[in-house]
Amino acid sequence: MPFVLKDSLVPSAPTISPHDIRWEEPDCLLCGQRRWQTLVEAPDIQGGTGLWFAVVQCLECGLCFTNPRPTASCLELFYPADYKPHQSKPAKGRRTGLFGLRRNRTGIAWNGLGRLLDFGCGGGDFLCRMRDEGWQVTGVDASLSTVRRLTRELGLHVLHGTLPHPDLQPHSFDVITMWHSLEHVPDPRSVLREARRLLTPHGRLYVAVPNIDSLAFRIFGPHWFALDLPRHLVHFSPLTLQFLLEQAGFRIISLRMQRRSAWIRHSARLACRYPEATWRHRLLRGRLGSRVAAFYSCLSGQSDCMTIVAQPWLD
Ligand SMILES: [Zn+2]
Repeated sequence: MPFVLKDSLVPSAPTISPHDIRWEEPDCLLCGQRRWQTLVEAPDIQGGTGLWFAVVQCLECGLCFTNPRPTASCLELFYPADYKPHQSKPAKGRRTGLFGLRRNRTGIAWNGLGRLLDFGCGGGDFLCRMRDEGWQVTGVDASLSTVRRLTRELGLHVLHGTLPHPDLQPHSFDVITMWHSLEHVPDPRSVLREARRLLTPHGRLYVAVPNIDSLAFRIFGPHWFALDLPRHLVHFSPLTLQFLLEQAGFRIISLRMQRRSAWIRHSARLACRYPEATWRHRLLRGRLGSRVAAFYSCLSGQSDCMTIVAQPWLD
């Protein structure tokens, strides 16, 4: 049976029968090989289904990915109606977004105002802010209910689906942003290749994803908040994200670690639900402990969140 179910540690009874789900075991999403080892097994916490999933690491290239995983047509079952990234924030909250992740995002470097595509636009708060700053904005999101709400309530131009998308033309965007969306897609390489095609030759791609090669993952393991199984299908490290971008035809301009003390507190609270919680987990539930850990992680290049800026290689 292609899933991992551990009754002893399930936080609640499974709400989805594994037999109602279609499963797949993809080749490595970076190098295409099929040699891997299990890295960690963890439950679906935020979706509340009670099922457990495995993350494997490719023995050839090091990419970590959820395997086996629900097929694309079944993934929507794991996104609850109140999934936070799909919710719009009140106006005063638009400085922060997805779990407080959207700080520092107005600093997109560009000479003048341009055309921006936000892939996986979620609640739409980032698109609204950029529109207010004068950008021509377009969104793409896989959730049809989210697309309808953003179009109807916020008047945004949002397309349903993924990349490639038939309504988008080559070289039609100056900036493409992927704020915590690339880890959700079944085939990130095809998404990035299409992003390269959609960008103008001097355009910029901004990608923010969790970093599995982080101090927080080493401390919390299956309780690391940013695993978010099975919605996160790919679990990048700085190295594997750069390899993937280069394969898709980008050159890296910068890679920055982000401080996320809230993630550390979330992870610590999850870990403390279990009997094997340690004094370190209890210490990191507090603001002081989590902030010190986040500061040290960022300083030492081991933060659990990273942002990369890339530009298409010129032919
Ligand atoms: Zn591989």
